[in-house]
Amino acid sequence: MHIDILTLFPQMFQGPFSLGIFKRAIDRKLVSINIHNIRDYTHDKHHTVDDYAYGGGAGMVLKPEPIFEAVESIKSKPGADELPIILLTPQGRLFSQQIALELSKYRHVILICGHYEGVDERVREHLVTDEVSIGDYVLSGGELAAMVVVDAVVRLLPGVLGSEASLLDNSHVTGLLEYPQYTRPAVYRGWSVPEVLLSGNHTQIAKWRREQAIQRTLKRRPELLDKANLSLEERQLVDRLRDCLSTSPPLSPSPFKERGKSGIEGASPLQTSLDE
Ligand code: SAH
Repeated sequence: MHIDILTLFPQMFQGPFSLGIFKRAIDRKLVSINIHNIRDYTHDKHHTVDDYAYGGGAGMVLKPEPIFEAVESIKSKPGADELPIILLTPQGRLFSQQIALELSKYRHVILICGHYEGVDERVREHLVTDEVSIGDYVLSGGELAAMVVVDAVVRLLPGVLGSEASLLDNSHVTGLLEYPQYTRPAVYRGWSVPEVLLSGNHTQIAKWRREQAIQRTLKRRPELLDKANLSLEERQLVDRLRDCLSTSPPLSPSPFKERGKSGIEGASPLQTSLDE
């Protein structure tokens, strides 16, 4: 896969893309990433990329010309005619694992990072094919958003992660949040790893993990369960747990306020009833 990123701050990408799975994926030629400085596509002496907003108001707007020219220059290369041109914007469709999967199928994508007050509306109207937001909050630039998108997409490319299987259970991949994970030591400060995980019984372990994933999703993100792929038996489990929840005191708006001695779920009255 090839990814072109248009930005005013190419330096911001140096750290993240030169480490870990990115570095490995780039070194192994599973992905190539080109960072383009929007300023390089200006023609005036001062390399102007932004200007005041028509109609007034605080803040600068990115001019359309350098962005159009940068995209057209990338698209003029052979094989780059049909590709998604994605503007990072808080007004875009909300990024998700589903969108990451969808983007990972393309051979080539272009990402455009805005800054200041955003980009001239004509970029949105006449250049981009898609708009993506990474959440309902406002960042000062699209660079961090582009890194989030690229990270989520690149780890889905075949061969990028060491073990393909490790992808499958991840939160949001199955439609559920992932089950709790433990590593050695088996007892730490008196807190034990659940017995079943030490049993070596893979059927029991798989069953426990599945139930934990369902309970966890119900507790933290119940709306995800509506779309999750559950068996009839699992749906019945969800109904039983839901009944149990409806008789429990409401969860604090911030689960972290409820943090108890044994971690985030520890002191929650809800978890206690789920575990019963
Ligand atoms: N005035 C704009 C926000 C501009 S924020 C508005 O109200 O819609 C500046 C730039 O940061 C944007 O052009 C965009 O590229 C990036 N950005 C900010 N928040 C973002 C988000 N939640 N997701 C993706 N990009 C975001």
